[in-house]
Amino acid sequence: MYDVRSPRAEEFIDHAEVMATVQYAREHARDAALLDDILAKAAERKGLDHREASVLLACELPEKTEALYRLAQQIKLDFYGNRIVMFAPLYLSNYCVNSCVYCPYHAKNRHIARKKLTQEEVAREVIALQDMGHKRLALEAGEHPTMNPIEYILECIETIYGIRHRNGAIRRVNVNIAATTVEEYALLRKAGIGTYILFQETYHRQSYEKLHPVGPKHDYAWHTEAMDRAMQGGIDDVGLGVLFGLEGYRYEFAALLMHAEHLEAACGVGPHTISVPRIKRADDIDPGMFDNGIDDATFARICACIRVAVPYTGMIVSTRESQAVREMVLPLGISQISGASRTSVGGYDTPEEPEDNSAQFDVSDQRSLDEVVRWLMEQGHIPSFCTACYREGRTGDRFMALCKSRQILNCCHPNALLTLREYLEDYASPATRELGLARIEQELGRIPGDKVRTRAREYLERIAHGERDFRF
Ligand code: SF4
Ligand code: SF4
Repeated sequence: MYDVRSPRAEEFIDHAEVMATVQYAREHARDAALLDDILAKAAERKGLDHREASVLLACELPEKTEALYRLAQQIKLDFYGNRIVMFAPLYLSNYCVNSCVYCPYHAKNRHIARKKLTQEEVAREVIALQDMGHKRLALEAGEHPTMNPIEYILECIETIYGIRHRNGAIRRVNVNIAATTVEEYALLRKAGIGTYILFQETYHRQSYEKLHPVGPKHDYAWHTEAMDRAMQGGIDDVGLGVLFGLEGYRYEFAALLMHAEHLEAACGVGPHTISVPRIKRADDIDPGMFDNGIDDATFARICACIRVAVPYTGMIVSTRESQAVREMVLPLGISQISGASRTSVGGYDTPEEPEDNSAQFDVSDQRSLDEVVRWLMEQGHIPSFCTACYREGRTGDRFMALCKSRQILNCCHPNALLTLREYLEDYASPATRELGLARIEQELGRIPGDKVRTRAREYLERIAHGERDFRF
């Protein structure tokens, strides 16, 4: 029985409710009056429920679909402006006891080189990342009780925060590790993590159990209820995501929004971010094994629907997607992207050789961070290395309250310009630097308050003279 507040996965992601939602959406795909009502509600920028958003996803009327895209673009501009926050994944260990059939790190894959970074190697990876200009990382590790216990993850976090190389610093460490206990989440919180990220992979229970035949991840309820435990452990920024391609996308979309509604209803805070990965080719994995792949147009529509359904939740697209696809979806509501990612263990300090097969998935966008930064600016976006909210304690419900009242805009824009200026001073190529300085000058005029603008100018000047780490 569907119950949005229930602590039980089978009730807050009730299969019958998801199926009824998909059916309802299909039946109303050409219902112009209902689509107009839903679009009008979405235009109030307070979000949509999973049924309403699913009707938009199913919409078969071209003019309503056009209206959806226009609204998604406008909401993106209203809540996130033209800023795109940058991050990079850091793979710590690919030892894993699970058996996810879509991942090359599954326990039975014998062709892959197994690696786990020592603290010295973590330091070398972090220095390589700092030397590119990264300030925000997402840690990734397989699940292995003896090779990657929580103590190892905590030690790595301490090492990462402790490294200051030239003007570099990692200022926010997000963590993507297996579902764990309230006690271990509390330890992660104490270590100062930003967002705890855990992809559901698929919300369809039967498929989930088939795709994860052995290992602790086989337990659907344990995995699906992880965010509730993370919040009980004191982590108030959590990141959701599904791996599109494993199951029917309409099912995943409705269930993903039901999960977001559950977190808001049961824990008082919705998800901080939603990621939209699509299944990719990797060693021992062929995406052709899964027959639910989605094309680029459907992918774009999913992004637009998420944007209007949860306007205050950041949306992340990774280097799994090509430059062309990223260009298509950025204006539809993406707020964060990764750049210059390596998806193998130790891949930054010692980039893998072409024949190395230890990457978790193929990276489609292979450009350097400097190229990505310049490309974003050429496309009219402002790359941001901001980590201010987390460091000012603006997390969880404090962050959401600011975001929903749109006060966050008074921080994000100046912070984007300050952190971009740091990047230009410390890491940019001459061409990127020249373009960036001109863009900062243009964008200063868009800071709403006179006082904030004057202060931003003063901080920019001080950054040019060697000072770092100003924030609003
Ligand atoms: Fe292990 Fe994660 Fe890969 Fe599954 S997806 S095999 S848990 S590393
Ligand atoms: Fe993100 Fe906060 Fe920085 Fe805005 S000010 S970009 S919400 S960290």
